[in-house]
Amino acid sequence: MDLIDLRSDTVTRPGPGMRKAMHDAEVGDDVFGDDPTINQLQERVAALFGKEAAIWTPTGTMANQIAIGSLAGQGEEIICDRGAHIVNYEGGAISALWGAQSLVVDGERGIFGPEDVRAVLRRGDNEHFPRQRAVALENTHNRGGGSVWPIAQMRKVAALAHEAGLAVHLDGARLWNAHVVSGVPLLEYGALADTVSVCLSKGLGAPAGSLVASTRERVMRMRRLRKRLGGGLRQAGVLAAAGLYALDHHIERLAEDHQNARRLAELVREIPGLSCEPRLVETNLLFVDVAVKGGSRALVAAARSEGVLCNAEGAGERIRLVTHLDVPASAIPEAAQRLRQAATAL
Ligand SMILES: *Cc1c(COP(=O)(O)O)cnc(C)c1O
Repeated sequence: MDLIDLRSDTVTRPGPGMRKAMHDAEVGDDVFGDDPTINQLQERVAALFGKEAAIWTPTGTMANQIAIGSLAGQGEEIICDRGAHIVNYEGGAISALWGAQSLVVDGERGIFGPEDVRAVLRRGDNEHFPRQRAVALENTHNRGGGSVWPIAQMRKVAALAHEAGLAVHLDGARLWNAHVVSGVPLLEYGALADTVSVCLSKGLGAPAGSLVASTRERVMRMRRLRKRLGGGLRQAGVLAAAGLYALDHHIERLAEDHQNARRLAELVREIPGLSCEPRLVETNLLFVDVAVKGGSRALVAAARSEGVLCNAEGAGERIRLVTHLDVPASAIPEAAQRLRQAATAL
């Protein structure tokens, strides 16, 4: 029985075309700036977002954190949603690495408005206050269920931040998914943010690699922070080649993952004890509320023995199902059937 792995879009494995590109990659020492394939990828991603430069990192966490480290330091503050990846899933890095803190607002599925930011702006140069430096947005929003920011709302939040003298960071680990769904050009996302991070190792299927695009000057500062974190790789072009291949071949096909997630939602909500709202499945993440004996953890274990891998999500009784490159449309009915077996056995 083949496992159907719905734990994350990070589980994708490089296929033959991507491996060939990696095999054939021209490489150099990227700490010296002379890996041609890394340079090509950095220039390409900078251009996609209309930025002067970009920097490659091994992980999305490092990409977000060098961006944040370039924006805020000790005693300073970043405003973001309560469910943000940078707050919940990066090991407390904002404070641990930079001595900064987050100030969270309560968005709707990770999406907040200018009024939410305005409500927490600190007025005046009062010695009691942390200095506010940036507003961080996440699109799509992971904990919000793969939700997609309306571009008009992003622009309003970014405009308010800039008026208040704050920078805008965009955690775009799954910005490709948002772009495919919304049709908003990547340049428009780039135009509203000072730093944009993107992942190549989620839905795009590369084994590793993220980038931050920004100004040339800020990218130079981020290179220093990346080195400090031990993220200066040498012949990283082998990995950059996978990223270039992913940009060429795996962006438009994300639409299939989105259709598969919606289809899976329609099937899963027919299973007794499981509920979800297909209308809210905008991209490739699907959160399912679980009301079976033993709760989400029991369901995850039972699903595993039926050959479906998934994760329990947060403290509540929810599981997360993620569609991706290695789950073809033909596996969706089978996945739902196995989940039904698992849920009804409890
Ligand atoms: C996955 C993810 C990241 C980065 O994760 P890594 O595992 O470090 O590559 C950043 N932001 C969001 C929203 C993510 O989903």
